[in-house]
Amino acid sequence: MTTFSSPEGGPGLPQRRRLVTEIPGPASRQLLARRESAVARGVSNMLPVFITAAGGGVLVDADGNSLIDFGSGIAVTSVGNSAPRVTSRVQEQVAQFTHTCFMVTPYEGYVAVCEELARHTPGDHEKRSALFNSGAEAVENAVKIARHATGRQAVVAFDHAYHGRTNLTMALTAKNMPYKDKFGPFAGEIYRMPMAYPLRWPGGPERCAAEAFDVVTGLIHAQVGEDNVAAVIIEPIQGEGGFVVPPDGFLPALAQYCRGHGIVFIADEIQTGFCRTGDWFACDHEGVVPDLITTAKGIAGGMPLAAVTGRAEMMDSVHVGGLGGTYGGNPVACAGALGAMETMEAEDLAGRARRIGDIMLPRLRKLAEADPVIADVRGRGAMIAIELAEAGSLEPAPAVASQIAKACHAAGLVVLTCGTFGNVLRFLPPLVIGEDLLEEGLSLLEDAFAGL
Ligand SMILES: *Cc1c(COP(=O)(O)O)cnc(C)c1O
Repeated sequence: MTTFSSPEGGPGLPQRRRLVTEIPGPASRQLLARRESAVARGVSNMLPVFITAAGGGVLVDADGNSLIDFGSGIAVTSVGNSAPRVTSRVQEQVAQFTHTCFMVTPYEGYVAVCEELARHTPGDHEKRSALFNSGAEAVENAVKIARHATGRQAVVAFDHAYHGRTNLTMALTAKNMPYKDKFGPFAGEIYRMPMAYPLRWPGGPERCAAEAFDVVTGLIHAQVGEDNVAAVIIEPIQGEGGFVVPPDGFLPALAQYCRGHGIVFIADEIQTGFCRTGDWFACDHEGVVPDLITTAKGIAGGMPLAAVTGRAEMMDSVHVGGLGGTYGGNPVACAGALGAMETMEAEDLAGRARRIGDIMLPRLRKLAEADPVIADVRGRGAMIAIELAEAGSLEPAPAVASQIAKACHAAGLVVLTCGTFGNVLRFLPPLVIGEDLLEEGLSLLEDAFAGL
């Protein structure tokens, strides 16, 4: 990692943790006061330090503190903040033109992003893509496409699922607080099924894959009817719901079941995609080929962009004009995506993600052996989590999770929590983070547990 200083941020930032004030410092606290009288309360902050520069594995705040980043802005800046290939392409594009609306007069960048998506997403069948602004919008459109292609209405989603905050995606999202509470009524024809959650499966982790598959397909048959189901949507590793990794065999069986019943299998890879789990997509791990795949977050190095990619005949079943949006596939965001995907390929970021997992998992497992509050260490590549529960039980321990997160924040390590029960600490470092910073971050986490 380079260590020369750059006032603009990006990869030239010194790659070290450095605290010069308490967290948050006086400059951040002043901005926080302004924020409180201008920004809606409903938009929360995990850690109220105001960022002025970021790059590699660090975030620099308004007080000059340099924090280690184990969050990547929720799995977005996988290529690092202001990654060189993203920055140069974005700067070129923004000087050329900023918007025409692809539906009015098209431009090459949109087409090139769709070509890259066809190349990198699972399966070598003929594909088409459509671009949108946010993950939720991509999920909404995947459901629209599945319904249009099948002529059916029902959509099957899972316990602990997170698919967004718009009306349809709130209905697909499992967790009430804070995502859904008093925001109803929600969209109809959504059916929720138990998730293959090895730690919490009643029959135990060994029986989880087979039993969960039987329960899910049994419930679909009894309560919905296979012929009424347009789509099954699932995150191949659940994100906000707690980084739940379904046991091997569950996803392939589900995909095959869908194929057998004319149901569209939608993989929501918005959090897992773009090298995060050590493959281009989490579905690649077991060779699962989804009919439709939704992507966003890591796609464009921080520029807002999302996509639905899928089988040409399904995507093209929608009438001309049936998909779109004013900003979807904005040229500046597309330039960012081309730079991000080029970086992933040139720097083998899937390999980097595997290496991050190889460093993190053994240290976290050792920590778990020493501390009975850690009920589970799980994840793949650079998408890793620990679930906390009262010692000797599976009773969730959300207070401990937030206490550890707070201790990490105070020490200059940005970690995030998640989980239906709020008891999961998740780690999503930028894939370009230096190994010394990664190890230092893990030491800070160990210190936080030692200080419980
Ligand atoms: C973040 C996320 C979404 C929603 O994406 P937004 O860009 O926040 O709308 C949907 N699905 C998954 C799996 C996500 O992690």
